[in-house]
Amino acid sequence: MKMRRSLVVLLGIAACAAGSFCQVKTEMRLAEEVSRTKLLSQVRDLVGFGPRTGGTPSGEKSASYIALKFKEDGFKPSLIKDPPHLTFEFQSWKLSVERPRELHKLICNEWIGGFSPTVADTTAELIYLKDVGTAARSVAGKAILTESPFNEKEYRRLSEHGAKCILEISPRLDDAYSNWAFINDLPPSRKNQIPLFNLSYRNGESLIRALADSEKVMIRYSAKTVIDSTRPKTVVATLEGESDKYYIVCAHGDSDSGGPGADDNASGVSTVLETARALKKLVSTHQLPKPKCSIRFIIWGAEIFSTENYIRLHAKELDKILGVLNLDEVGIGAARNCLYFESNDVKYNDSLLKVLDSVAGDYAGQKGFWSEATTNPSQGGTDSYVFFPSSLRALKVPLRNIPSVTIYTAAWNQLKPLPQTPGWRSRSWHGPADTVYVDYSPYYHSSLDVPERTTEKEPFNMVVAAKAVGIALLRLAW
Ligand SMILES: [Zn+2]
Repeated sequence: MKMRRSLVVLLGIAACAAGSFCQVKTEMRLAEEVSRTKLLSQVRDLVGFGPRTGGTPSGEKSASYIALKFKEDGFKPSLIKDPPHLTFEFQSWKLSVERPRELHKLICNEWIGGFSPTVADTTAELIYLKDVGTAARSVAGKAILTESPFNEKEYRRLSEHGAKCILEISPRLDDAYSNWAFINDLPPSRKNQIPLFNLSYRNGESLIRALADSEKVMIRYSAKTVIDSTRPKTVVATLEGESDKYYIVCAHGDSDSGGPGADDNASGVSTVLETARALKKLVSTHQLPKPKCSIRFIIWGAEIFSTENYIRLHAKELDKILGVLNLDEVGIGAARNCLYFESNDVKYNDSLLKVLDSVAGDYAGQKGFWSEATTNPSQGGTDSYVFFPSSLRALKVPLRNIPSVTIYTAAWNQLKPLPQTPGWRSRSWHGPADTVYVDYSPYYHSSLDVPERTTEKEPFNMVVAAKAVGIALLRLAW
């Protein structure tokens, strides 16, 4: 490791002497510019707005905030108004046990399910249904407690049979959802009749026990929500280069789950903002020349939906996109301190991933950088995949091989082993050669995906992600 680093330093010095900008010095300068304080405060601000679903009041606040941040950093941001789509935002909800009185304070860290309707203050008897598929008329007038995930048909049947509301118990995992709720939604519709509340599995267990002791359990609940067709706003800020070909550095601006979404994905948004600010500062203070190609920093109003809209709008010029670096969940990593670069199973991603992987290898273990990093195969489910040919085909736009990767420190809610793609072995990976262990967040899509549990607890994740992406861009775009 040491040998390699000193070689990089020597090469850098040679580049300085030759008159071009000093690569290593500039990379270190960029790394020094990344501000942990700004990264953290931006996450707190964003989470303070609410779930930030594109087009809702909290989404509007978030888009205005992001545009303002870009302006403060010297960009001229533009807004894309995405097409209307059905969105959900809660204004308030209440849920408690009315009887027995000793359980009155039991329910905590619950979360309302997306697309729950507004309901007045109601009291109903709770019954336990192991399998909601078997719901019959006996559910009439009752609140339903269940741990079984239900589909749209089963939800509609519960409604039709007169059930009053649903309390869904979170899955029982080793390290997640014991005292906080995994957030499930109802089918997106204005016609939903009964609300859904998500409970931690310990709250669920206590209620099941109380019912098994043949106690009559009464719950009291209300919800004030808005379900409306709205237009998410996507914010774009460009660092102009010598050519109009460009890299996209992006993150979805909405909370993925409709919860607080500090890790998923205020962390990604904050990291894009900070990478943009640091690079812009080096250019405007003449520590860096104008880049050879442009960089578009984009915060999507609504994950996937806004990205698809962007691709449709730019269908005729997709060949201008040199690559996509998408940041999704860079706020925590429960089991390892590792930076991941996804999708190494896609052949045309090779050149982009090799740059990220060489940055990872050059700086791993140095003070202020990551301790571990690796590339990994595709897992799906985030904005980088919208640029894949299968998605372009579905969007009926010209097919292009656009290198497109996601950078993250956690995905899902359990440590996940993946077979490593043959031919890929990162210098900075400490695990086995044939397996990548994808780190996780215990607060994934939950009521406690809040700064105190994620970004504030492990502030270094966003810092190293901003440094890695910034340095990779220095090698790609200058
Ligand atoms: Zn996400």
